[in-house]
Amino acid sequence: MAHYATASMPSNLPTVPLEAGLGPENPPCPACGEPLFPWVGLPVGTLVAHRCEACGLGVLSLSGKTSDALADFDRSRQAQGDYAYLNRASLQATITGGAWSGLGTDRAYRFTPDSVQRLVSDRDQIVTSRRWMPGAGIASMWQSGINMFTFGHNLALGRWGKATKIPARKGWQRTLDAFITVVLALPSLLFALPIELIGGALGRGGSYRVELNVL
Ligand SMILES: [Zn+2]
Repeated sequence: MAHYATASMPSNLPTVPLEAGLGPENPPCPACGEPLFPWVGLPVGTLVAHRCEACGLGVLSLSGKTSDALADFDRSRQAQGDYAYLNRASLQATITGGAWSGLGTDRAYRFTPDSVQRLVSDRDQIVTSRRWMPGAGIASMWQSGINMFTFGHNLALGRWGKATKIPARKGWQRTLDAFITVVLALPSLLFALPIELIGGALGRGGSYRVELNVL
């Protein structure tokens, strides 16, 4: 999809397509085709990371193929036939940055409502309904708040199988992380509740489930 930077005055100035920014360092977004840009501030251990400024897709792989991104999204399919994903464009992801618990998965893509819509349109599907999942969103915001103070990430949700646990490298760090997790459990919940409720009200909840039309 082409977007053009247009000159307002005078009108005869040449227009510059954003695609001009495409290159080995800025491959096209698998969802919308705009150039991807380096995604900084991620936790240690994340190797290649880019994000799309247009649709918000987070990419931890440089295959650049729409089919790969769709295959990754299809792994989110639930038993009921709908799809669940953590929202990279959520208020909680913005607030917690590199501590956002949604980063800690083994998946190569981090989705947003916009990128999901664009991706599935590639195979002639549309999102027919989208439901905010406040419980899952509050849980991920709660864990993200704790992640801001621990060496490892997702220690509590990971233990319960609700996220991918990324333990700290050193033994003393893991001991300290366990202590911090207990101490911050309640305070983090007090922040998680209002932040996720505001995020959901703004359409920027942490977790969504979507249904697609059947092909
Ligand atoms: Zn994009």
